[in-house]
Amino acid sequence: MNINKNDELEVQISAMTNEGQGVARIDGFTVFVANTAVGDVANIKIIKILPNYAIGKLLDIVSPSSFRQDAQCKDYIRCGGCNLRHIKYENELTIKQGFVKDSFERIAKINAPCREIIPSSIQNGYRNKAQFPVGKDINGNIIFGFFAKRSHVIIPLDSCLLQPDEFTKIAQDILQFIKQNKISVYDPITQKGTLRHIYIRKAQLTNEIMVCLVCAKEKIFNIDKLCTSLTQKYSNIKSIVVNVNLTTGNAILGKKCITVFGNDYITDVLCGITVHISAQSFYQINHDQAENLYNKAIEYACLDDTKTLVDMYCGIGTIGLACANKVKKVIGIEIIPDAIENAKANAKLNNITNATFICDDAKNAANDLVNSGENVNVIIVDPPRKGCDSDVIASIVKLSPERIVMVSCNSATAARDCAILEQNNYKVTEYTPLDMFPRTTHVECVIALQRVE
Ligand code: SAH
Repeated sequence: MNINKNDELEVQISAMTNEGQGVARIDGFTVFVANTAVGDVANIKIIKILPNYAIGKLLDIVSPSSFRQDAQCKDYIRCGGCNLRHIKYENELTIKQGFVKDSFERIAKINAPCREIIPSSIQNGYRNKAQFPVGKDINGNIIFGFFAKRSHVIIPLDSCLLQPDEFTKIAQDILQFIKQNKISVYDPITQKGTLRHIYIRKAQLTNEIMVCLVCAKEKIFNIDKLCTSLTQKYSNIKSIVVNVNLTTGNAILGKKCITVFGNDYITDVLCGITVHISAQSFYQINHDQAENLYNKAIEYACLDDTKTLVDMYCGIGTIGLACANKVKKVIGIEIIPDAIENAKANAKLNNITNATFICDDAKNAANDLVNSGENVNVIIVDPPRKGCDSDVIASIVKLSPERIVMVSCNSATAARDCAILEQNNYKVTEYTPLDMFPRTTHVECVIALQRVE
């Protein structure tokens, strides 16, 4: 079939990409259409044609999919935060189960059983962290919000269903303060101005909040006054930090943090472990699902008190510390110094004496473990989205633990890494998807691997 730019066509949506775009096939040719659902019959306009596919814009729905629901958010179409909000949650779970299964079965050719996805008990308000970009609208008004899809245009925000209402209220108060005190906002084009992001984190079990002002300067005019007014209004703000980011790139946080009120951490409780969390440290953003995730990882790890466990990419040590009373010894490995500081403090806070933490790149630390002759029985590996470094996999194979549990927020790289492990004496016995990020296309998974004897 001959498709041309600007053609208007009626199509049926038959699949969904893992970025949440509907797929229509016109005589075998693929057209991606955002904001559609499988089963929709829709009128679309072709806006771009590439050699292997085209992009269509939704004009109107002729007959809606039974999976559709009201998105309940006025900014949904523009905002880059959610992309499955127009789809019923049951169907979102099916879609995510499909993404994970597809990565393992079709792409990595791993045929172990894929268990039923673990749903999130709540689909809204689950995020314990927000990072709002601050800037100006076209009229020069200072705004905060979220970046629009695939852009750095800020959509002003008055509420967001994914996070506590407190976050937007605190950000509104900060914005009002900076306007009154003539504190400038950063302009990425001229690289001038001060405030770049408002980053807020909340500990679910204690309600403690950390406010982090990401700035292109160290000294903020009247910062003490801001701290007083915020903490008087929100008594659960226990930490206010200025993060200094002088870089010109897209990274939100700079390396330096200056505590301007309270502690440099907030305290939460996860799987019964009390934890300190600093601004720079990774912390799972959906508390209750993180507990489900860790419990699944612990189940797959088959621990007992004879085992030495390595918690690779350990963050603030949460997984390893949750396992500490089940094993002989825990070794945590993590690259961010503040996170390792938290991990060490967290071991002490919980009277855990059989855990040590190493601050290094996982590939160096894993190699050092090989050279030290450490007898490692189980490795839980929880890498960032890009997956494990090939050197890390090589060291894991040399350490030859009887079990490996992989925890991943990217099933494509996890399946790739598991396929390499399958070529090196390991077998995936089963895996379980878990919905950590409802209403978005992101999906977590936990994979059990066993050494082949
Ligand atoms: N297991 C932790 C953290 C998982 S996120 C938890 O559940 O909270 C992945 C972690 O890997 C982050 O803390 C990140 O800082 C760390 N990381 C990223 N690249 C790394 C590397 N090359 N070596 C060691 N740690 C790394």
